[in-house]
Amino acid sequence: MNPWVAKAVMLAGTVAIIVIRAPHGRRSRSIKIARSHKTTLETVLLVLAWVGFFVPLVWVASPVFSFAEYPLRTGLLVAGTLCLATGLWLFYRSHADLGTNWSITLEVRKEHQLITHGVYRGIRHPMYSALALYSIGQALVIPNWVAGLSNVIAFGVLLALRVGAEERMMAQQFGAEYAAYSARTKRLVPGIW
Ligand code: SAH
Repeated sequence: MNPWVAKAVMLAGTVAIIVIRAPHGRRSRSIKIARSHKTTLETVLLVLAWVGFFVPLVWVASPVFSFAEYPLRTGLLVAGTLCLATGLWLFYRSHADLGTNWSITLEVRKEHQLITHGVYRGIRHPMYSALALYSIGQALVIPNWVAGLSNVIAFGVLLALRVGAEERMMAQQFGAEYAAYSARTKRLVPGIW
């Protein structure tokens, strides 16, 4: 199959993720930060996430990763598109439920509230589940070892190194309320982990 089909799906996903995030990014700048837990490691992880996000765009626009190309298969394209679509839906829902409490990094906002409803009812990190699904979707859709795996690797590292720190921050902020929430929920996969 023509790799431009994968490029079109990849670009549509990228536009969707930017459109979903944009209003939250704009609004978050006007909401005061009560406590920042942003460390050097957090900055490194955010840079890594941006690199993971941009590499597939470089693949669309230039032949620089052509050495790592492989044939596009219909089954992988369909499975990947389903993962991307589910990830984008969950990304949209988690932003809607988190509202003004969202931050791109580890921060507690003024009048921060613990959200436990909507997609936060069964798992504590639906936005990370969404990005995991999105990254896996990209890996399946993009027929290139470098561009396909860039987001999975970058986001995998971010996930492994951030979730523990974020949960410690939330436990410090919300105490018993967060302990009770943690006890009745899973991290990323409903009912499993
Ligand atoms: N880990 C969550 C949120 C990612 S955004 C998810 O994957 O859905 C990161 C910011 O969200 C953190 O800095 C924290 O301030 C905030 N946050 C995380 N969980 C929250 C919750 N249940 N309620 C309110 N704010 C939360």
